[in-house]
Amino acid sequence: MDYGDIVYGSASKTLLSRWDVIQSTALRLISGAFRSSPILLLHCEVNCLPLSYWRQLRLMVWYTKICNSSLDHPLFQCLSHDYAAIHSKNWTAGRQVPTVIRASYALSSLHFPCGSFSPLPDISPLPPWFPMSEYLSSDFPVAAKQEGHLVVSSFNKLCDEEYNGYVHIYTDGSLPESQSSCTAAMSIPTLEFHAAWKISSVNIVTAELIGLMKALRFVLEFFYNSKVVIFTDSKVSLDLIRCYAVGFQSLVDPICCSLKSLKEKNIVVKLQWVPSHSGVPRNELVDSIAKGAHSFVNIVNPVHIPVSEHITAYRRAVWEKWRLDREVELQFSQLGPYRRSNLLTALTTSLASRKLKSAILRLCVGHLRLKAHLHRLSLEDSPFCSCGEIEDVRHIILHCPRYFTSRVFLRHSLFWIGVPFQLDRILGADSETPHVLKKIYHHLAVFLKSSGLLKTL
Ligand SMILES: [Zn+2]
Repeated sequence: MDYGDIVYGSASKTLLSRWDVIQSTALRLISGAFRSSPILLLHCEVNCLPLSYWRQLRLMVWYTKICNSSLDHPLFQCLSHDYAAIHSKNWTAGRQVPTVIRASYALSSLHFPCGSFSPLPDISPLPPWFPMSEYLSSDFPVAAKQEGHLVVSSFNKLCDEEYNGYVHIYTDGSLPESQSSCTAAMSIPTLEFHAAWKISSVNIVTAELIGLMKALRFVLEFFYNSKVVIFTDSKVSLDLIRCYAVGFQSLVDPICCSLKSLKEKNIVVKLQWVPSHSGVPRNELVDSIAKGAHSFVNIVNPVHIPVSEHITAYRRAVWEKWRLDREVELQFSQLGPYRRSNLLTALTTSLASRKLKSAILRLCVGHLRLKAHLHRLSLEDSPFCSCGEIEDVRHIILHCPRYFTSRVFLRHSLFWIGVPFQLDRILGADSETPHVLKKIYHHLAVFLKSSGLLKTL
């Protein structure tokens, strides 16, 4: 359904809403929900982004990819050349505007910068005959899983034999558990020089590569006729540099350029891998410097962040926007507080029967053949159960005396898996692990079958 939406996304809202009808029909078919079930609740329960949000996300991704494509890309040339001219016109939001302007609006509405063109080179600046193995070494005398003292003694031996007379530089990256931003650090113990940066990235490999890039630039600027070894505990980073990895060109390319310039300046430099967290004192020191940088206020350089990370940030922002937008509407729905983030996946992995899956989804959405709901639709004279209470989801699962025996078994089964007998937990609250969720839905299915509710819902 999203094929070509970058182009047709400029159509009027009335035309675009035709797609929404197709999406909601598909969701109802998949989930087994009623035609009367509100599409907002279905989107929430199935955890499916509405098409308008989805189009916005795809437009932002497309635009960023163009801004970071190669110089040969025809659209890149057009956009970077005419960017100022296109944007200087007085466009009115809501009118038909060029795709790039729509993309700019989409980015700025979520507070992302737009218009930063940083073309990525297709090929490495290093020629194929460049002796990469002389610059990068992922070999270490002992396995990383060996005991700490063995690693430390091997490291000291390596320094004495191979790197005698070299200046030692240590680099590291750090990503906190909160994953809000990461840090990179470099340290030159002999010069007592230490530096760290907080980066607006949530990828540890990006942080490690930025650490290496900063160290190489430092060497290029301040060292002459020297021999330098840079220690890193990220083997992945060395592999990415070695193969000039696609997707990481924005970081790998400046590193390769630095290596080339260092060769021209006759500075011997080597990037050497050391096992992480194995007690090598100066490696531990740079690790603690990187961790200390999390308290920094200033966040630096989004320039070198790979496109994939921008896309992750966009995805989060669009989902968050949808979450906030739907919050108000959900407050007025029957089961508002009990949203699950991915009901359909949980049901698909837990139950084989489509009838059971549909029944549980209807229980979650609150639109089902119970008198309270049917009465709202004027299909039933009274909303009351034969026991005298209002017949809704809460009543039939928790209170109605007609299903007492089945409920005793359900309560007992849930007790043994440590789940309290509360409606949100029985319907699979988000706090449950997939393993527990599977058991809950199994017991709920047994309840629905033994009570006879499965036939009526
Ligand atoms: Zn009842």
